[in-house]
Amino acid sequence: MPSGNVCAPQDGYSIPVEVSIGSELAAGGRLFVGVVRDISEQKRTEAELRLPLTGLLNRRAFNDEASRLTGLTLRHQRSLGVLVLDVDHFKRVNDTHGHAVGDEVLRQLARTVSGELRDTDLLARLGGEEFCVLMPETGSDGLKRLANRLLEAVRAMVVRLPDVSLQITVSIGGANLRDPPDTFKQALLRADEALYTAKGEGRNRVLIHGEA
Ligand code: GH3
Ligand code: MG
Ligand code: MG
Repeated sequence: MPSGNVCAPQDGYSIPVEVSIGSELAAGGRLFVGVVRDISEQKRTEAELRLPLTGLLNRRAFNDEASRLTGLTLRHQRSLGVLVLDVDHFKRVNDTHGHAVGDEVLRQLARTVSGELRDTDLLARLGGEEFCVLMPETGSDGLKRLANRLLEAVRAMVVRLPDVSLQITVSIGGANLRDPPDTFKQALLRADEALYTAKGEGRNRVLIHGEA
């Protein structure tokens, strides 16, 4: 069924609608009937079901904090580790068990990952089923250690629901902030590249950028 938004110009706002059009032969020609249904209520319910993952920074707050931490790290010549973590085959979880179950899996994943971090580490949800961890004072050995700990913690996690218990795996890419002119954005890109490679190599693994 086609859907979209229609604008009520006199009021200056738009509402989501679903449009159906039928036709039939009538005496003297073809008769077309169009029905435009207001689906605002349905859309509102969908939005409410997408519960935010409590306690996690959103992308904008995370970017601000990341810039601040990067500045400090470079100025004081310290180390900073970046991990990006993405759920493996998450679409299957939604397709098999429904979106609400998918949401619950994400909430538990956020709790599990938080539980492994230090107070000074930052965890953010970058979007969808992708998370980022920023670790101040963490060099490449520490980064690898933590990444593997997260991988194991997620493997061991069992999401118990009334009808089903499920387990998931994640792929993790990591990178360390280098000397200037390196930036957080570039470190994040390297971590993403490593994540992409980890997915390609079969998922359910850690890959740190620059390491075989
Ligand atoms: P891959 O192992 O390659 O990462 O496979 P994937 O299926 O996890 O990757 P893909 O990017 O194809 O699918 C991600 C899915 O995550 C699709 C999208 O519907 C779902 N998703 C994104 N945000 C949410 C959310 O907030 N809740 C739920 N339940 N699903 C979400
Ligand atoms: Mg995924
Ligand atoms: Mg993803």
